[in-house]
Amino acid sequence: MPVLPSETDIFIAELDTAVEAHMNWTRRILRCAVLRTTPGEDVLDPMAHTLCHFGSWFMSSRAEFDALDAQAAQRVEAVHQAMHDAIRSICTRVLAEQPGNHADLEAFEQSQSELLVLLARFKTLILTKAVRHDPLTGLPLRYGIENDFSLYRKAARCDRTLLYVAMIDVDHFKPINDTHGHLVGDLVLRQLADVLKQTLRSNEPLYRFGGEEFLWLLQCQSAAEAEQSAQRLLDAVRTASVPIPDGVPLALTVTLGLARVREQDDLSSVIMRADLALYEGKKSGRDRYVIADF
Ligand code: GH3
Ligand code: MG
Ligand code: MG
Repeated sequence: MPVLPSETDIFIAELDTAVEAHMNWTRRILRCAVLRTTPGEDVLDPMAHTLCHFGSWFMSSRAEFDALDAQAAQRVEAVHQAMHDAIRSICTRVLAEQPGNHADLEAFEQSQSELLVLLARFKTLILTKAVRHDPLTGLPLRYGIENDFSLYRKAARCDRTLLYVAMIDVDHFKPINDTHGHLVGDLVLRQLADVLKQTLRSNEPLYRFGGEEFLWLLQCQSAAEAEQSAQRLLDAVRTASVPIPDGVPLALTVTLGLARVREQDDLSSVIMRADLALYEGKKSGRDRYVIADF
């Protein structure tokens, strides 16, 4: 999924090129019809839809399209092929001096317009995704938390499991910036985010909440399980020292504040309790978790 700015830029540029190229087909068909000039052998090829620049790029980027909207991606494939089939049929008839076929023209117009609409929708999806993700760590930003929180809360009620909100804050992060510079600080944050992602389960969303703070949603069977998960995370960060350019790898620790979501809580009240627990953890020595008991 393209989340980093350069990947997003490339993806958008390819989409724009595809839109331009496929809009251009109206002009190319007109030239073929009026001037009887061949649109090129590749266009007349039965596999033209795989030979055009967009077709081959689309195939190689199919996983990204599927991740955004698999159904729409399938439709792009079908409509793109239908468009090339119609172009081939129109041009072949023109060049063979045969009368035009109304159905071919309809198919061309419809598939072209649907393809352009689909590609414009993908562009919106990609841009929306890009602004909702942190370009440094690739993690989602806070936009989606409210919505995810409601979904997780509903699921926890249904499964009779417990839901926790955890605030994770890097210990003594400012001295890293001060000693090694902001760029190294950025690198450390990126590596830390990777360690966190690898340690958490796939159904435990993690967000970059702010500067060097992360928010983690944790659904579990018991308070003991929440404690084990928190401990596992602390251990993973402590043991994964972060390599930095031209320097001794940095040892890193984090402090966690956890709060169980109670019936009367909303997202902001539970975040506030997790924050207070985090503050307790910092005060009592860092590199630890504290579960809010208030
Ligand atoms: P504590 O253990 O109490 O949390 O100490 P700390 O030094 O981590 O806390 P403090 O809040 O004083 O410092 C957080 C620092 O994180 C300050 C800010 O410059 C830095 N920071 C926030 N966002 C970024 C970022 O995106 N990149 C870099 N390099 N630094 C950041
Ligand atoms: Mg902080
Ligand atoms: Mg900190």
